[in-house]
Amino acid sequence: MGEKEIVYVQEAFASNWIAPLGPNVNGFEHDLEAYLGNNVHVAALSSGTAALHMALIILGVKAGDEVICQSMTFAASANPIVYQGATPVFVDSEESTWNMSPEFMELAIKDRIQKGKKPKAIIVVHLYGMPARIDEIMAIAHKYEIPVVEDAAEALGSTFNGKPVGTFGDIGILSFNGNKIITTSGGGALISKNPEFVHKARFLGSQALDPAPHYQHSQIGYNYRMSNVCAGIGRGQMEVLPLRVQQRRNNYQFYKKAFAGIEGIEFLEEPGKGYFSNHWLTAILVKVPNFTREDLRLCLTGNNIDCRPLWKPMHLQSVFADAPYYGSDISERLFEIGLCLPSGSNLTEADLERITTTVCDCVGVPVS
Ligand SMILES: *Cc1c(COP(=O)(O)O)cnc(C)c1O
Repeated sequence: MGEKEIVYVQEAFASNWIAPLGPNVNGFEHDLEAYLGNNVHVAALSSGTAALHMALIILGVKAGDEVICQSMTFAASANPIVYQGATPVFVDSEESTWNMSPEFMELAIKDRIQKGKKPKAIIVVHLYGMPARIDEIMAIAHKYEIPVVEDAAEALGSTFNGKPVGTFGDIGILSFNGNKIITTSGGGALISKNPEFVHKARFLGSQALDPAPHYQHSQIGYNYRMSNVCAGIGRGQMEVLPLRVQQRRNNYQFYKKAFAGIEGIEFLEEPGKGYFSNHWLTAILVKVPNFTREDLRLCLTGNNIDCRPLWKPMHLQSVFADAPYYGSDISERLFEIGLCLPSGSNLTEADLERITTTVCDCVGVPVS
């Protein structure tokens, strides 16, 4: 937390606005709109997952439809497809961003069309804050006239060619879960340049109340709006977002420098001009001779340093065993050799020193 979160939360209590709407919700949406720019509209919702669910409903995804989804991601990217009774079609990653491969994506689109069903939407993820190859993905999506949902849950603060990720697709989503770069304890947002989409998210997300003095419904609604208390936290967090991005990027730089001398440790790094990552998590690949990712994970854990393998691809999850998959073994291999290092915004220099020294000890090389 920064310093202002508690002030906004106290305002909610003082004014008795303890509800899934109120001045903090409006203020938080406004702050996000100002931060994202580019004429983006924002609906604050109860979670990133809810925002993805709303996005698919707004794009008309229905039972029996197919939706293309990046395989390497957190399950929340794909679950809302199933909430709608639709089928996820998973696509492999590419090596430079670890996100959806435009080539495999086009292959998937062509093959699904040939099999008689054009995908209803595409969900692309900006994993660990790294922008996907969004320009190529949007070009292919336009060619086949398929709407794109950008899952930017991990990527608030990241940009591609100077534009925030989440603002390229038809709809973008953000998450403010406790583990994300900023948090409202739990929360999310649906973002779009299309004001109709955002209006619809607000309408459907607050129980689809038709205008009438009584309770009148012509559509199925959801209870997906953000609480005014949580939005108070979000307003405070927006004031420290640039600092949080700097802190996460500093973690990455620290690790990068410390491991420069270790052969076989590779980073998820910005692949070229135009890519700006918030480096939400610093993720590495362990390609050290005779030393595996599991060796490093166990060694760090044994030294009381928490770390995790990368997201396990969805096409390898038993719950999605029947879903079609297009790609090769790229995401599978990343999962096997990838590790997320401690990446909190509150890591101290001493923490980082201890982590990097321990990694060097584990691998058996001198600290650089
Ligand atoms: C966290 C996350 C979500 C879900 O957001 P919640 O707010 O936790 O529901 C979706 N996609 C990705 C990639 C995430 O990391």
